[in-house]
Amino acid sequence: MYGLSEQDLALQATARAFADELVPFEVEAEMNEGNLAEGMLEKLRQRAAYLGLHSTNIPTEVGGQGCTALQQVLVQEQGGRVTNTLAWVLATPPAWWVDVATPDQLERWLEPTVRGEVEECYAITEEHAGSDVSELAATVRRDGDEYVLDGVKWHVTSYNSASYCFFQGVLTEGEHGGEHALVVVDLPSPGVSVVRVPAYSHTTTHQHPIVAFEGVRVPVTHLIGQEGEGMTFAQEWFRFERLMVAARCLGAAERLVDEMTSFAAERRVGGEPLAAKQLVQAMLADSLTELYAARAMVYETARGIDEGLDRKVLHARASMAKLYASEMAGRVADRAVQVFGGRGYMRENVAERFTRELRVERIWEGASEIQRIIVADQLLKRGRAALV
Ligand SMILES: Cc1cc2nc3c(=O)[nH]c(=O)nc-3n(C[C@H](O)[C@H](O)[C@H](O)COP(=O)(O)OP(=O)(O)OC[C@H]3O[C@@H](n4cnc5c(N)ncnc54)[C@H](O)[C@@H]3O)c2cc1C
Repeated sequence: MYGLSEQDLALQATARAFADELVPFEVEAEMNEGNLAEGMLEKLRQRAAYLGLHSTNIPTEVGGQGCTALQQVLVQEQGGRVTNTLAWVLATPPAWWVDVATPDQLERWLEPTVRGEVEECYAITEEHAGSDVSELAATVRRDGDEYVLDGVKWHVTSYNSASYCFFQGVLTEGEHGGEHALVVVDLPSPGVSVVRVPAYSHTTTHQHPIVAFEGVRVPVTHLIGQEGEGMTFAQEWFRFERLMVAARCLGAAERLVDEMTSFAAERRVGGEPLAAKQLVQAMLADSLTELYAARAMVYETARGIDEGLDRKVLHARASMAKLYASEMAGRVADRAVQVFGGRGYMRENVAERFTRELRVERIWEGASEIQRIIVADQLLKRGRAALV
């Protein structure tokens, strides 16, 4: 099915079996603020690496798995079947960095990340700059052989476990004054401090603190690419990550369809299985149909990347895939809660957890409204036939 090669199917089976190993840990994580027994998350991370499921998006020359886009989707889809971010051990390091990293950057940060020894985090969003990154107020000022960074960043995911972060800010002067620069900051560093750690809907060990950068000094060798290129990398990351969000939403929807179908088949109401009720059947049928449609879209978009289609076309298709798959998964989760009834409102139930966890898929990496704006913009510029 879906024209997958032998190699694709083997990788998919490995990822599926690994995701199945993670599922039994979900409730323990949910009840313990995302934590598992001492050392267990590290063991799972090592196992993911051993199975070839870590760094699937990184070329083999840099130590990654060098998978096709479709294979990356297949792996992330299986990870999406698991709640409480346990499948984040299937990490996808910053592939956009590979072509522009200096030998020093490669050795100090990128290669250790690919080997799974360290983690990165992204400090881009601010209080007044989210969807519209061009509103960033954080600054990057050149001072001799150093840059001085100032700004307050929001939602810095995994700051608590990261060894370094990407800081995006506006250059204060020079030829590219007013444009963006992306700079690496080691963590901890003098001048970097946590303002506060808000609680979020999902239950995970990964925090998303508000982080202040006050007069933080880094050598100019920490600049990624050239001055003024900061926005380019964010755009590239979005294209990749939007497809991966869509892939994980497929996995979540599949798990929910499986779980609600088994429950409906077993649960007896009014002397017959819940699954015999046509109103319940409609929820199962709608969920399966939407999953089928979303999967076809996501796989086709990944194939387009592997075939080297035009970047703008792919940009629009990745937006369509993220928009549809994330909204589809949200609808499926909502129906699953309904099918489970009161049990679906209990935190030990997978549908309850997914209802909270999937909500953010419609917000991060470009909220649904932003995806619609991108799709409509491309439609009006290029015409329907270029995109679909
Ligand atoms: C759990 C979590 C983790 C995150 N992790 C990170 C991270 O690691 N690093 C990082 O830098 N950021 C991170 N983010 C930030 C995330 O990328 C932003 O929340 C997202 O881009 C939306 O920005 P915003 O929250 O400022 O919303 P806003 O931009 O203020 O948007 C609010 C609402 O208005 C809508 N809207 C905005 N513009 C338009 C428009 N032109 N037309 C119509 N509607 C519009 C949006 O779609 C949204 O519904 C994270 C966020 C969350 C919730």
